Amino acid sequence: MSRYRLQPSPAQEAVLLEHCGHARFVWNLAVEQHAHWRPGRKSAPGFAEQCRQLTQARGEFAWLRAGSIIVQQQALKDFAQAMANFFGGTHRRPTWRRRGQGEGFRIVAVKAGDVRRLSRHVGEVKVPKVGWVRFRWSRALPEGVKSCRVTRDAAGRWHVAFAAIPEPIPAPGTGGVVGVDRGVAVSAALSTGELLHAPALRDAEKARLLRLLRRLARAERGSHRRGRVKVAIARLKARERDRRRDWVEKTSTDLARRFGVIAVEDLKIANMVRSAKGTIDAPGRSVRQKAGLNRGILAAGWGRLVARLEQKAPGRVVKINPAYTSQRCSACGIVDRQARESQASFRCRSCGYAGNADVNAARNIAHAAGHAVSARGGPPLGEPTNREPQRDLLLMG
Ligand SMILES: [Zn+2]
Repeated sequence: MSRYRLQPSPAQEAVLLEHCGHARFVWNLAVEQHAHWRPGRKSAPGFAEQCRQLTQARGEFAWLRAGSIIVQQQALKDFAQAMANFFGGTHRRPTWRRRGQGEGFRIVAVKAGDVRRLSRHVGEVKVPKVGWVRFRWSRALPEGVKSCRVTRDAAGRWHVAFAAIPEPIPAPGTGGVVGVDRGVAVSAALSTGELLHAPALRDAEKARLLRLLRRLARAERGSHRRGRVKVAIARLKARERDRRRDWVEKTSTDLARRFGVIAVEDLKIANMVRSAKGTIDAPGRSVRQKAGLNRGILAAGWGRLVARLEQKAPGRVVKINPAYTSQRCSACGIVDRQARESQASFRCRSCGYAGNADVNAARNIAHAAGHAVSARGGPPLGEPTNREPQRDLLLMG
C-alpha cells in the first residue's frame, strides 16, 4: 500500500476540506438518484448524464462552481465504479456519505511532474486549487502513478494514496492450474493444499479493541474522551486494513509468479447462488457466508485479490461457476451434500477421500479451469483423465 501521511498547512487544509465536501455532495446526489430507481423504471442516469447535471449544478451554485471540477467529476466516476462493483458482486451497494466519515476525494491523470521529492523524508503533491502539499516520504513511490486519493480519517489525519496499475507478471514456463477458494476459517485455500491466512489483529490488539469499544459505549456523547477513544479505534482498524491490503499484494504476486492459470469462483454467480436462499446448489455456501464475523471486510479483500490477479496475470485468470464446488468430491467427482462433515472437513462417502473442505473446493475449481483451458485448445495441463464428464456443468460459457 502506498499511503503517505499528508501534512497540509492550515490554509491548505481548509481547501482540502472543501474538496471533501464537494465530493461528498456530488456522491450523495448520485446515491439519491439511484435510490429512486426500481426495476422497470426508466434507468437511473449514467455517468455522462450525471456529468451534464453536474455542469448544470455548477451553473446554479456558486459554492460548487468555486470548487475543482476535477474533484467533482471524479466523485461521479468513483460512484459509477462503485455501482459496477456492486453489480459485479464484489462490493456492497454504495451508500450515503456523512460529514467526518471516510472523507476524501480523488485526483486522476496525475502527471510525473505533479509529485516531487524535496528531501529524504519530504515529498510534495500538486492538488487542484490547493497547490503543492507536503507529505511524509515514508516509502518508495510506486511506478506509473496515474491517480491519487486524498483522505481524512476519523482522527483528523490526512493521507495521500497513490494508485498505480501493477505491471503484468510473466507466467512461469512450467506453471499449471491452481484453484483458489475463499474459505471461512482460512482466507483462501489452494488446490495444492496450501491454506492462506490473511493477517488480522493480534490477540493483544483484539483485546485492546474490545476494551476501547467498551469504553466507547460508556463515554458520554460529544465528550472529549469519546473523541479520543474513537481515534484509537480508527487507528487499530486502519492497521488491520493495511495488513490485509499488504497480504493481497503479496499473495496475488506469488500466485501470478507460480502458476500459469489461476482459477477462482465467479463472484457474480456466487452471489446469485447465495442470494437465492435455499437453492439446492449451495446451501452450504450461504451458511458459510453468514459464519464470517467480519465478512464484509473479507468479501472486499477477496474482490481486491481477484482484481489484482487480473492485473498481474492478465488473461490467465479463469472464473468458474461455483455451483457444487463445495459438495463435489474432487477425487471421484460425485456430488454428495452430506460429504461435508463440518465447515472444515470433507469426507466422500463414495470413494473415501477426506480432506480440508476448502481445499476440496479449490481442487474442483482447478479441475473446471483445466477443462476450460484445454477445451479452448490451450496447453495440456496434466489433468487426470478419470474425472466424470458432468464436470462440464461447472464451466462458464
Ligand atoms: Zn469421492
